[in-house]
Amino acid sequence: MSTHKDLLSSPYYKEPGPKLDKESPFESMMERFRFATDLLKINEGMFQYLASPVQTTIVSIPVIMDNGEIQVFEGYRVIHDNVLGPSKGGIRYSPDVDIDEVKALAAWMTWKCAVVNVPFGGAKGAIKCDPKKLSQREIEHITRRYTSAMFDVFGPDPDIPAPDMNTNEQTMAWIMDTYSMHARKTETAVVTGKPILLGGSRGRKEATGRGVVTVTLAAMTKLGMAPNRSSVAVQGLGNVGAVSAVLMHEQGAKVVAISDISGAYYNENGIDIPAAIAYTAGNKGTLEGFQGCEIISNADLLELDVDVLIPAAKEDQINRYNAENIKARIISEGANGPITASADEILEKKGILVIPDILANAGGVTVSYFEWVQDRQGYFWTEERVNRRLTRMMREAFQLIYGVMEQYDITLRQAAYVYAIDKVAKTLAMRGIYG
Ligand code: NAD
Repeated sequence: MSTHKDLLSSPYYKEPGPKLDKESPFESMMERFRFATDLLKINEGMFQYLASPVQTTIVSIPVIMDNGEIQVFEGYRVIHDNVLGPSKGGIRYSPDVDIDEVKALAAWMTWKCAVVNVPFGGAKGAIKCDPKKLSQREIEHITRRYTSAMFDVFGPDPDIPAPDMNTNEQTMAWIMDTYSMHARKTETAVVTGKPILLGGSRGRKEATGRGVVTVTLAAMTKLGMAPNRSSVAVQGLGNVGAVSAVLMHEQGAKVVAISDISGAYYNENGIDIPAAIAYTAGNKGTLEGFQGCEIISNADLLELDVDVLIPAAKEDQINRYNAENIKARIISEGANGPITASADEILEKKGILVIPDILANAGGVTVSYFEWVQDRQGYFWTEERVNRRLTRMMREAFQLIYGVMEQYDITLRQAAYVYAIDKVAKTLAMRGIYG
């Protein structure tokens, strides 16, 4: 039987106490996890179950480097949960990654899949390496050897990886090919985020931004805000931010500020978003030198007096130090973890509606699910069908979570965690504990 002491040794568990000065997105997630398990009166045994990964695999990856010497890397795959279906989650390449971070990210994926009603559990993988110091040949060999070592973990039925930090379509193509060589047949459904030529889905690249905009528009409807009378600021004009900005612009919203690592660009009359995107395309992907705007800082962008704020760059952007100054009515989290747990409380008091990351940016995993379905069917959908089904699932998820928010009189973020954790716990209770 599990004891409170066991819980304390769980990598997910943190004794409630004074908030840390520097919050990591994982600590913030755990704070929200504990809130939901308390509200749902989850008992200790179930808490223990929900906080423990199903399977943790650590492998050594020996590779002959370009200089002829052997170097050994460490690779991880954590399946946090597979009660709802095969586990799903990205693989990142990073020199700083450790197993506890991978465990936390895997749990995050469990809640994200549950929120949008995708029939997947959560997982995450990583290789401790610095891709900046590796050649393409070395990265390919590391990827293939890792996949070979994970042959019994990955698979279209048990566990389906996807791209994450420093991995991309090419990495997924290598994983698919290596897995297929071992399986003695082509298994496109073993990974998502593949090139379209290899069984990738139309609409996948735009899916996260499209999902962000779908739930943002749904939230605006709830608050009686018309897109064509609303202003928007987008932090981070990358994959998620650019699609969000374009689609909000297409809805008639006035996008008054956009930004990237080069700085933030503000025009109170609205920015010509297609022109800004075209500019970055011809300018090595950056907004640097973009004309017709006042240059402000990324910190200033967050505090603009706008109707909708979409942080789509990185974590911890809105925290205890600036939350009081935020003026937007809606914040839609395109990025993962852009708001810390302590900022949540401040924003709630200010009456700002925050659409949490596990809902707002779940369009990516939703279309990953579509990719897996298409691969298994061997039948590929039009982009129009992908977008239509994505929009429907995101709208439905928003309505469900909004309903939970009203039912318990909690925030939308708390509602997303309550919904996800309740769903996994109920499914587990119905399946029962085997053994
Ligand atoms: P990206 O690399 O394409 O874009 C990131 C953008 O943010 C770039 O324009 C970069 O210049 C900018 N940026 C970086 N640091 C910044 C800073 N300090 N201030 C302002 N801008 C800054 O990345 P992406 O794929 O768009 O991902 C963005 C966020 O969304 C990440 O948190 C990611 O985890 C999350 N996310 C992405 C997806 C997806 O499908 N791509 C899915 C879910 C969540």
